[in-house]
Amino acid sequence: MSNEKKQTVLITGGNRGIGLAIGRRFGQEGYRVVILDLPAEPGAAAAALTTDTGGAYYCCDITRKARVDEVIADVLGTFGFVDVLVNNAGVLKWTSFIDTTEEEFDLQFNVNVKGIYFVSQPIVRSMIARGRGNIINMGSMGGKDGAAIQTVYCASKAAVIQLTKVMAKELGPHNIRVNSLCPGIIQTDIGNDAPMSADSWLVKTPLGRLGDPEDVAGVAYFLASDDAKYMTGQAINVTGGMMTF
Ligand code: NDP
Repeated sequence: MSNEKKQTVLITGGNRGIGLAIGRRFGQEGYRVVILDLPAEPGAAAAALTTDTGGAYYCCDITRKARVDEVIADVLGTFGFVDVLVNNAGVLKWTSFIDTTEEEFDLQFNVNVKGIYFVSQPIVRSMIARGRGNIINMGSMGGKDGAAIQTVYCASKAAVIQLTKVMAKELGPHNIRVNSLCPGIIQTDIGNDAPMSADSWLVKTPLGRLGDPEDVAGVAYFLASDDAKYMTGQAINVTGGMMTF
């Protein structure tokens, strides 16, 4: 595919974990991959992915509006358009309802919810001007069914699912589809400090294994593809059957 005709996917939090797997999948499908993440320099895998696909890596805290505006302006100036936006960056703090601090509350809502507004608003403006676009917001199984000691995280992910529905309704007339993904237990670093064992999740998973980042990446690619062209406003479970509603 010629470089001019390449489509661009922008992924927040794509330096590792699920976001990196999504980037790899889109890269395999011929997309130019642009990643926004916290580290000053990308990890080796993200660096190779962005370079090999003709994309770019930006050090960008998505909770800092001025920096986000600067980065998105550079992305649009350099690549023209963002065809697919994946709002993937997220943080999880394991705290009970009564022990949650204001700092923990603000961090999780700022990254998981406010960051989606900051990154999406300038990109959506350009999608509206262009008359098309595709957005995937990373929700969670916990945004549908609450989980103990994930108090703020679950509330923030419920907000992501609801925000996705609102965005779908507002942006559908502009030919912009917006869906959320609701993964179950996917093996990434986010679960490293979990106070429960992996086995406690495994026994609740009908498919008999925990998820890999690639399990989510495949569904993300499907949602962005024309095979899903009549889907918007949905919250799609990727849980191995642990969540069925
Ligand atoms: P990881 O912790 O492995 O990756 C999260 C990524 O987001 C990291 O690269 C992290 O950067 C980045 N990030 C965090 N804060 C910011 C910020 N302010 N600005 C930019 N980037 C930021 O998590 P996963 O890959 O597991 O999770 C990806 C998404 O999937 C999250 O939204 C998560 O909530 C969701 N999810 C994950 C599940 C799972 O079981 N893994 C289940 C359900 C949902 P850094 O490396 O510097 O911290």
